[in-house]
Amino acid sequence: MNPKNILKLLTIAFDQPQYNLESIINEDEKAFSFQIESFIKNAIQDSLFVETYSALSFENKNTIPESISIENDGDNFNIDENFYFCATPNEEIDKEKILIVGENNVWNSDQSGFNLEMYIGRTLSFKGELKVEALTQSINSMTHSYTIQSIISASGVLVSPLLIVLQGTDGKFGPRIQKNLFKAENVLVFTSNSGKLTSALVKTWFQEVFLPSSSDKSVLLLDSRSGQNSKLFESFPKSKKLIQIENIPAGTTGMIQPLDVFFFRSWKNFIRYFSGTVVLYNHDINLHHRNNIIKLQSLIHIQFSSPRFKNLIKYAWYKSGYISEKLPEFDNPSVDYCFKKCAAICNLCSTSTVIRCAWSKKSLCMNHFFTDYHICKNFQE
Ligand SMILES: [Zn+2]
Ligand SMILES: [Zn+2]
Repeated sequence: MNPKNILKLLTIAFDQPQYNLESIINEDEKAFSFQIESFIKNAIQDSLFVETYSALSFENKNTIPESISIENDGDNFNIDENFYFCATPNEEIDKEKILIVGENNVWNSDQSGFNLEMYIGRTLSFKGELKVEALTQSINSMTHSYTIQSIISASGVLVSPLLIVLQGTDGKFGPRIQKNLFKAENVLVFTSNSGKLTSALVKTWFQEVFLPSSSDKSVLLLDSRSGQNSKLFESFPKSKKLIQIENIPAGTTGMIQPLDVFFFRSWKNFIRYFSGTVVLYNHDINLHHRNNIIKLQSLIHIQFSSPRFKNLIKYAWYKSGYISEKLPEFDNPSVDYCFKKCAAICNLCSTSTVIRCAWSKKSLCMNHFFTDYHICKNFQE
């Protein structure tokens, strides 16, 4: 049985004019739909989820590629004594370097753009205009387009903090906004007119985020767009750290840039799913508000930092061809784990849930996850 087909049949059955009454979803309806949902889930084979789960199981030795432990060898890895940049556009990225510096020291960083229409558009179109009124209330505090800059390592680590660039004038917030900005340890927030990274912000990112988290010898994979090339970094003062920057040639990022190949898609699916829930169940959260954007990105960063998703990150490197150990294929594991396998009732109160925490495994309601800002580092296997 395919649950999607059951859903389609039910939609057809109730999509008749006599049932076509629009109203705001209430608690009774939510509880009733959870019952039906559980009923359907129990009726179908658990095997539907097996693939995703085995891939996620951090403790399952079969799914974790053995880490490559080759000692640093100065002779093989031709690194300059000083701060080192080597751009190799249109050439194959030297995968040997990953073996030499080790998976822990090989990084990929890139930016990914978001706009609100993208992730709540579809839900809005079928749920009418539930949120539109709220969205127009405080236009000054709203952002429609913003960018994040993430860093992942070939060993499956997501680097903190996450850089967020919101749309704003003059490239920075005024003191009053700055004071009221949502504060989170794992994000660094800037603004630009476009809501994208400027060359100056790429430099800031490099100095304030990448350099402090990288080790003495690293390889950093960057794509050639948005000015992230060696020229930009040439103005940096010499540092004791040896960082080799490899350019991913234009037009190939979808195939060989780990973040594009797998990671950002999972991140965006997470946002889509969460935002869809906010709109569908009419939660009083304005997703365009800059503080909610920061809060949500910070919460997602916490979730994706869970050891449970280490394989998701490694899989992105595997799929891009940098590590050769076979990892089982899986699809959108963050959505599967955090949303689809979430219990119906919150572990901390008796309200219906929105998410299952990838750290603590607790199923949480909107209040306990989003409103109370669920910071969690308590990993439960
Ligand atoms: Zn709760
Ligand atoms: Zn938790």
